[in-house]
Amino acid sequence: MAKNEAAKGTAKTAITPTRAEDYPEWYQQVVRAADMAENSPVRGCMVIKPWGYAIWENIQRELDTMFKETGHKNAYFPLFIPKSFMEKEAEHVEGFAKECAVVTHHRLVAGPNGGLVPDPEAKLEEPLIVRPTSETIIGAAFAQWVQSYRDLPLLINQWANVVRWEMRTRLFLRTTEFLWQEGHTAHATEAEAREETMKMLGVYATFARDFMAVPVFEGKKTESERFPGAVDTFCIEAMMQDRKALQAGTSHFLGQNFAKASGIRFQTKTETEEFAWTTSWGVSTRLVGAMVMSHADDDGLVLPPRLAPTHVILLPVYRGDETRAQVDAYIDALAAELRGQRLGERRVEVEVDRRDIRGGDKQWEWVKKGAPLRVEIGPRDVEGGMVMVARRDRPVKEKTSLPRGEFVAKVVEILEEMQAGLLARASAFRDEHTHVVEDKAAFEAFFKAKGDKEIHGGFALAHWAGDARVEAELKDRYKVTVRCIPSGGFAGAPWADALVGEGRCIFTGQPSPQRVVFAKSY
Ligand code: AMP
Repeated sequence: MAKNEAAKGTAKTAITPTRAEDYPEWYQQVVRAADMAENSPVRGCMVIKPWGYAIWENIQRELDTMFKETGHKNAYFPLFIPKSFMEKEAEHVEGFAKECAVVTHHRLVAGPNGGLVPDPEAKLEEPLIVRPTSETIIGAAFAQWVQSYRDLPLLINQWANVVRWEMRTRLFLRTTEFLWQEGHTAHATEAEAREETMKMLGVYATFARDFMAVPVFEGKKTESERFPGAVDTFCIEAMMQDRKALQAGTSHFLGQNFAKASGIRFQTKTETEEFAWTTSWGVSTRLVGAMVMSHADDDGLVLPPRLAPTHVILLPVYRGDETRAQVDAYIDALAAELRGQRLGERRVEVEVDRRDIRGGDKQWEWVKKGAPLRVEIGPRDVEGGMVMVARRDRPVKEKTSLPRGEFVAKVVEILEEMQAGLLARASAFRDEHTHVVEDKAAFEAFFKAKGDKEIHGGFALAHWAGDARVEAELKDRYKVTVRCIPSGGFAGAPWADALVGEGRCIFTGQPSPQRVVFAKSY
């Protein structure tokens, strides 16, 4: 459906198909309609457009502050990793081998058919891997930086791009090249490294809730879902609107595996030599996709104000040239007043859209981009000292006329209310579609879909005894995996009590220490 139809009110939604009709296609259309990103000529890689990139920048800024508040410092390491580095940790190389982009030459020469071919004379002695993750190259640096217990803990973060040769890609959620941050830390004791792992998991969970307005389970991954080379992987898991799970971030306790592989040794206080204990943790541009899939609706993107690039879009409604200057002056003054307000650490971000296009089309563009507040101002508003305000969390046609002063005084309160409202709505949705499942028949019924596009199921909380064969079978049969062995993120939920306490595996009858979260996932 064209946006004009929606603008004329002849159709119900601005995005076609709707979520209920075809959720995966709806997602692509929302990303496109919001002008956030597009596919690139390079398979699996995306072009992030200004609106999408501004959201990522906001994510970056808030997370970066949180990392620094917890004592981490930023640094930067090379894009290329010598193959031999990757090979040092056996599980690590095995886990990533299938997804590695490899550089073998450093020069091209004219080929037989007019094109260019790698110069055989310029073959690298050792191939370089485009980093899929940086444990090994950062480990090599840490080995130099750490001599004594006095050098520990070493708390480093890197903002970078990485490449994993993914077979099935989707804008933001899974791309071949993606932007992320990777934290890497080294500690003198196991306890301290474990504490760090959980601390950063907590930072991610707090960020997801307080900024993205996305409730998350915090928990441990099963052995089969563990990061290659890690001792334990912890994650945050969110429910998307098609009730599938999305792993939104991970924090790994690496034990001494990578310290041994890279030679990160230190002298203890008692002058013995020991290997350090390391951690790593990361979130990526996937978070942008997580926000889309959590909050967007059939009219397009809905952004939590704390991460929205623009909070208030001012839309002049000119009625002839005589009043144009007055409308512009009124808008400029209003914009300045609004920018003087603060939403948390940020100022209220205001944009004025003066483009010469139909007012209805302009309105819909900003609806689809998910700007929290749209404010129309015409000569009559100027005369009366009023503004016409529409909130993205309310029906598109709902507009309220407010005195200008009252709007300026209330704008932060309204944005905070919208932020809280989005979290409340996403939490209610997750809680409603999370069910305690007591036996195999109920499990089967819960996850049995009639068609691929049907939205059904959700999170099933069930006892499982840790049997990897059962896990593999469930993946095979129902495409369902254990998302995590939950340790937090569910207080106050109606089924929260069911997550504590022992029972018996619903598949094998073996004793189970606690219920785990099962779901289909991205
Ligand atoms: P990992 O290093 O595998 O623990 O990944 C860290 C985080 O990066 C994951 O929790 C995901 O949120 C994200 N991630 C992993 N693979 C991709 C991908 N292909 N595209 C976007 N994000 C990804």
